[in-house]
Amino acid sequence: MNQKGILIVVSGFAGTGKGTLMKRLLQDYDNYALSVSMTTRSPRPGERDGIEYFFVTKEAFEEKIAQDGLVEYACYVGNYYGTPRAYVEEKLGEGKDVILEIEIQGALKIKEKFPDSVLIFVMPPSGPELKARLVGRGTETMDVIEKRMSRAIEESQGIEHYDYIVVNDDLDECTQRLHNIICSAHSTPGRNMEFINKIRNELTQGN
Ligand code: ADP
Ligand code: 5GP
Repeated sequence: MNQKGILIVVSGFAGTGKGTLMKRLLQDYDNYALSVSMTTRSPRPGERDGIEYFFVTKEAFEEKIAQDGLVEYACYVGNYYGTPRAYVEEKLGEGKDVILEIEIQGALKIKEKFPDSVLIFVMPPSGPELKARLVGRGTETMDVIEKRMSRAIEESQGIEHYDYIVVNDDLDECTQRLHNIICSAHSTPGRNMEFINKIRNELTQGN
């Protein structure tokens, strides 16, 4: 019926499990393309350039902005993060659902530029569990963890701008829900006008 790709934005507080969830979604289903962002932050142990992020200098990032090579970008806890334009356009053109795992300022810019995008906020099961996951991941110093927790308080004020929330308690269940939301989005009349008009024409011709 409707084969156009949807631009999906997934946000959530640091440590909620967005990265883990995206990995599972891509393992379980094959119509998704996950955009790889560009960032000026340093790689965490195990992160590879071009896989988790394109790790670049501030100068290279600013050059990319000047070339209009990013669909959106934002500054988050002292570093730039942005979505390269070419991949998003290419994959949407191929009919893939393109996922941007980005923070809230970027998410709102996407909604403005692409009103048809679907914004999903991943919630932790509780505040203490969020902190436990962030500390348990063991990739940041306590100072950075505190900054990310304060940023979470600010971000929590913007959740109403999203179209859906999902709670990442049980990972399997959350992955399934996320997939179901995206499937439902494909069934709105607005995303199926070609098919609706075809049926309208057939009805008119038949009379
Ligand atoms: P984010 O990308 O949102 O910052 P991560 O995917 O890195 O978060 O997850 C943060 C930590 O929480 C990781 O140690 C991860 O293994 C753990 N985690 C993710 N999802 C769950 C879950 N559903 N239940 C328990 N722990 C989880
Ligand atoms: P992290 O440093 O934990 O990988 O990411 C920090 C925050 O930046 C997360 O909220 C993540 O979703 C967000 N982020 C990652 N890539 C992008 C991007 O391209 N644009 C924007 N606006 N945010 C991003």
